[in-house]
Amino acid sequence: MTLQAIDEATTLELDRHVFHSWSAQGALAPIVVAGGSGCEVWDDDGNRLLDFSSQLVNTNIGHTHPKVVAAIQQQAAILPTVAPAHANRVRGVAAERVLGVAGEPFSKVFFTNGGADANENAIRMARLTTGRDKVLSTYRSYHGNTGAAVVATGDWRRVPNEYARGHVHFWGPFPYRSEFWSATPEQEVERALHALRRIVEAEGPASIAAILVETVPGTAGVIVPPPGWLTGLRAIADEWGIVLIFDEVMAGFGRTGDWFAFQNPTINPDGVVPDLVTFAKGVNSGYVPAGGVIIPPAIAAAFDTRVFPGGLTYSGHPLAMASIVATIDAMREEGIVDNARRIGAEVLAPALAGLAERHAVIGDVRGLGVFWALDLVADPGTKTPLPPAEMVRIKHGLLGAGLLPFVQDNRVHVVPPCIVTDEQVARAIAIYDAVLP
Ligand code: PLP
Repeated sequence: MTLQAIDEATTLELDRHVFHSWSAQGALAPIVVAGGSGCEVWDDDGNRLLDFSSQLVNTNIGHTHPKVVAAIQQQAAILPTVAPAHANRVRGVAAERVLGVAGEPFSKVFFTNGGADANENAIRMARLTTGRDKVLSTYRSYHGNTGAAVVATGDWRRVPNEYARGHVHFWGPFPYRSEFWSATPEQEVERALHALRRIVEAEGPASIAAILVETVPGTAGVIVPPPGWLTGLRAIADEWGIVLIFDEVMAGFGRTGDWFAFQNPTINPDGVVPDLVTFAKGVNSGYVPAGGVIIPPAIAAAFDTRVFPGGLTYSGHPLAMASIVATIDAMREEGIVDNARRIGAEVLAPALAGLAERHAVIGDVRGLGVFWALDLVADPGTKTPLPPAEMVRIKHGLLGAGLLPFVQDNRVHVVPPCIVTDEQVARAIAIYDAVLP
């Protein structure tokens, strides 16, 4: 049987052979996604869904963008794979394009297969350049699922990566669900920075290699940090020579209405720049797995004469590189980042605020660009999260009404591709309106 001849029922039958991520395998009931274009996907029977999940918040350019598809096809015919040690035209161009949107002072890109290994390698760079081992990150974060492979390794590559001490967590600012009893965003930032400073002092600054934060924590609830947070992080890192890493895997490449969230003046009015930036997802909308670390000269120079003990067979894979170049070029040519910014400020912000006025279940609306969360509560006074059974009902209601949602804990994340139109937002809002209690 050809692939095209496989029907929907057979697809679901065959899926029983697939071991799925983050799931109890016996409880799965996946929907079939057979194809997609722009902001829509469809199943094998042609039933269409408006994709307001961007899959895992990665299809920033939309599905099946013709310029990106063509670039992958053309590269496949030229050279579909090449070892990372060789120089290759498309890899250099991809690095140049990424540096072009990252801006000063960045000078090199280390390419990885995705976001988790981007963070692994950024942490490795921080540890090796500082000679310290601890990494501080927030409780409300997701940075990837890898960890043990290099320490399980038997050869010399294990040795520079063996660290006796590891990870320390802290609470970042979250005005809606404050851990600090704050009454205002300003107070929340002040208290969160004070708490972090005390943790740094108590852990011993000379043992801390890196502070790693999502510029806008995404999966944890699209928690846009109030102004002052990133400035305060930069000051703490500078005071003790700690490497500041911004994880832009989800927030980067247009999602917040800027190329990177740290370039967004709402989030970062002081224009703070991190020491390292990690990226994946939107860099090529996930058409081919790819990610990376953006590195400034000071950190790159540390490995001019010393070997960097990290690498991947597919680092700078040519199909991924071709898709990165085509994605960034198409996003520039078609004003896709500007579209995300305009849609966020002029369309999504007022529409979601209106939705919250009509539905008391929406305790909080937060976000920017095409990166929003509706925090659903059983009681607006206590902010008790809406129970899981209710969330499942809402998820199925949205799917039944023709919208593919991103549902996480007690939240609906409103995260369409950056190319979403006013008309598609209006359609989605009508569906949320009809389904939310
Ligand atoms: N960092 C952030 C902020 C993410 O959202 C994710 C994935 O959702 C990752 C890292 C891990 O990326 P990947 O799944 O490509 O390894």
